[in-house]
Amino acid sequence: MTEPDDLAAFRAEVREFLRDSLPPELARAGRRATSVFSHPDHSIPWQKILTAKGWGAIDWPVEYGGTGWTPMQKYIFSAECARAGAPNLLPQGLKMVAPVLMHYGTDEQKAYFLPRILSGEHYWCQGFSEPGSGSDLASLKLKAERDGDHYVLNGSKIWTTHAHFANWMFALVRTSSEGKPQAGISFLLIDMATPGLKVDPIISLAGEHELNQVFFDNVRVPVANRLGEENDGWSVAKYLLTFERGGRYAPGLFAQLAKLEGEAGDDPVLQERLRREKVTLEALEALELKSINASGAKSALYASVLKVQGTEAAQRIDTLACEIAGLAGWAEADGQSPDLLATALPRYLNGRAATIYAGSNEIQRDLIARAVLG
Ligand SMILES: Cc1cc2nc3c(=O)[nH]c(=O)nc-3n(C[C@H](O)[C@H](O)[C@H](O)COP(=O)(O)OP(=O)(O)OC[C@H]3O[C@@H](n4cnc5c(N)ncnc54)[C@H](O)[C@@H]3O)c2cc1C
Repeated sequence: MTEPDDLAAFRAEVREFLRDSLPPELARAGRRATSVFSHPDHSIPWQKILTAKGWGAIDWPVEYGGTGWTPMQKYIFSAECARAGAPNLLPQGLKMVAPVLMHYGTDEQKAYFLPRILSGEHYWCQGFSEPGSGSDLASLKLKAERDGDHYVLNGSKIWTTHAHFANWMFALVRTSSEGKPQAGISFLLIDMATPGLKVDPIISLAGEHELNQVFFDNVRVPVANRLGEENDGWSVAKYLLTFERGGRYAPGLFAQLAKLEGEAGDDPVLQERLRREKVTLEALEALELKSINASGAKSALYASVLKVQGTEAAQRIDTLACEIAGLAGWAEADGQSPDLLATALPRYLNGRAATIYAGSNEIQRDLIARAVLG
């Protein structure tokens, strides 16, 4: 299918920009990334380059620094970035807390935080899960007691991705034990440099340090850093999770598949499996494009479906990459790209977590069943 002229011209403009502005060392780091969470040494410089061009937050409304692009333009941009090997931008700030700030934030909160997210000055982490509170998130216990114009926080958060790099955390805390557990939660924005806050590393199966446990010992957070009303943090969190789970999975996966097609040689079985994945990705892409116009409960439903489909496709593709890299090793790596050999296994191991984080896929299937079957 040929692309309409205006989109073809847009694609050419994006390609030219990437050719001129994506530094080769960042493209190399992007191609060798073994996680969807790029290291800040790569994501922040790329964020700054994009922001200087006016393309730093393509999904934001224009008034806050967005591009005003159509959904197809955003799709093309994501696909071209993935094809060129651009590092992923960290989602916690741009994709997760920013839309929540726009919806629930006071004018002061928006004016302070949004430009600093766009510029890359603020690097965010997500403090939702606790030891004992993952899928059953509403059972969370981290206590926030009011003391004048501050909350005093005691407890711990766990599995906090990139907390060791972050200078800000958005977190769910318990401000009341009355009534339903969901009714006593508030949403706070926490400066990671606050005294009493400690970050301990958790090393993953792949030997990587992405995760942490964060401890709070009488950490004082200004009441002015609360987003939304006291005890209404559950609504804020549900709004945020739609942005975390939904979005664009297909462009990056298509780029990964295209690389594997070149690596698989003429093995008919592998080529057939790659073709099957391509068909699955085409269906995923169609669903992602359809989800763009959804709102409210429909948009939450799409987000769950896309999370399940996107992460499971990614794991199948990671498995294929390992098999192809294994065959390459068997054939003494004749003509195989060093990127594939270096990254296939760490990517596979890291990617096992994708069906767990952002709410496990079992939980997403429960949510889908409830939304569809009632
Ligand atoms: C790599 C990684 C990064 C993460 N990053 C962050 C982060 O930055 N911030 C953050 O707050 N959290 C983060 N998490 C935590 C993540 O959100 C939780 O791991 C997830 O919600 C699951 O919770 P749990 O680990 O406590 O497992 P549990 O809730 O104990 O679940 C264990 C198993 O039981 C299944 N299960 C549980 N309840 C049900 C049910 N009702 N029906 C069917 N099956 C069920 C689950 O699907 C899972 O397979 C991260 C996790 C990982 C692995």
